[in-house]
Amino acid sequence: MRLTLLAAPALLCAAVTAQAQDVPATTAGQEALAILTEAIEVPTVAGRGEVPRLAALLTDRLVQSGFAQDDVSFVPLGETGYLTARYSGRDRSAGPIVVLAHMDVVEARAEDWERDPFTAVVEDGFVFGRGALDNKADLSMVMAALMGLKREGWIPARDIVLLFTGDEETQMRTTAAAAKAFANAALVLNADSGGGQLDADGKPFVYTVQAGEKTYADYRLTLTDAGGHSSRPDDTNPIVDMSAALSAIGAYQFPPKLSPLTKAYFEGTAATASPEIAAAMQAYAADPADQAAIATLSARPEYVGQVRTTCVPTMVEGGHAPNALPQSIRANVNCRIFPGTSRAEVMATLTQVIGNPAIAIEFIDNGTLESIESPLQPEIMAAIRAAVEERAPGLPVVPGMSAGATDSMHFRAQDIPALGVGATFIRAEDGFAHGLNERLPLATLDPGVQQWRKVLTTIAR
Ligand SMILES: [Zn+2]
Repeated sequence: MRLTLLAAPALLCAAVTAQAQDVPATTAGQEALAILTEAIEVPTVAGRGEVPRLAALLTDRLVQSGFAQDDVSFVPLGETGYLTARYSGRDRSAGPIVVLAHMDVVEARAEDWERDPFTAVVEDGFVFGRGALDNKADLSMVMAALMGLKREGWIPARDIVLLFTGDEETQMRTTAAAAKAFANAALVLNADSGGGQLDADGKPFVYTVQAGEKTYADYRLTLTDAGGHSSRPDDTNPIVDMSAALSAIGAYQFPPKLSPLTKAYFEGTAATASPEIAAAMQAYAADPADQAAIATLSARPEYVGQVRTTCVPTMVEGGHAPNALPQSIRANVNCRIFPGTSRAEVMATLTQVIGNPAIAIEFIDNGTLESIESPLQPEIMAAIRAAVEERAPGLPVVPGMSAGATDSMHFRAQDIPALGVGATFIRAEDGFAHGLNERLPLATLDPGVQQWRKVLTTIAR
């Protein structure tokens, strides 16, 4: 069966701003909603062993649309695993384009939700349910896009591999394994980051492409002492000394850094910022030594992370009795490190800032990797711009760096460019990823499938 797709940009735009609708207008959007509904109803929370069941349901759909059974495979890993579907291209020797999404979701307790989190409920123009936004929406849209192209007989220039991981929210072991299996990928398009932001009235105002993320790091600071009776204080007190160390860290500013990615981010974001901030962004992008611009941007919590590495004390635990000198104190310092700076360098800086050799500092390994930025390849960026332009004419497309860790880091660590190009457009006030009453605006499904279609057919034409 050949799908009828709405191609007229005006109609797609109308769909974005439509009030409440219950069903997507296009067959492709309806298919995405069917996949999303089915996916929400499989509770793929870590530890419940449900990822293989969802993978089997998705496999059935892919095979029905024309993927060969042999081209779709599930690789189990403990109670979870990852799913791949290979869409063969003309040049089988070229490295594939990997389209990345994740099947797992964060836990949701039914008693806290207004509706059952694992029943997809369509209401007031939204689909409600755990994973409705993160990440089953884009998973469904990109799947619907490729299934439609498969039915139509489109053949890409090179292989496209759909890769759905199974523990992105927790261990990322499936991601690490899959990244090794696809070490020959030419490009990764991640459906789990990037996307469009709508203003309060539902009008798109910016589209973000995630091209880098900061390195996550926790450092544990420990100081111990013999202690003693609090009526007989001496000049060694771990609480006092640790307080001085933490105050020094709180006051310290890492040197500002400007990379090709953050330069493009500030240049692009200036168009959507207030005049004062816009001027600072333009000045900083033009001259990374502009102290006034650095001060203006660093004073804003939403921009300071784009200017420099940040480290903040986040936890303290110490002392053992109200009337005893403390025998030990421990603190956690959480850092978001600018790509290109190593965790070892940051630890050396912290050691220097603390200036107290009695305080032991140790890096806590949580399995995340050190980040590098992906290059902004002009032809790839042009394809993304064209797809967004079709959906929302004139919308700024801005590359950016996120603060958290996504599946992309496992590919970037292998020098494979990875870009977050999700097709969900949503208002900030509707974004409840990981939270209660997670929801997706239904109106994003039709243009979202079309955006994926356009991105893939342009990049792999
Ligand atoms: Zn996610």
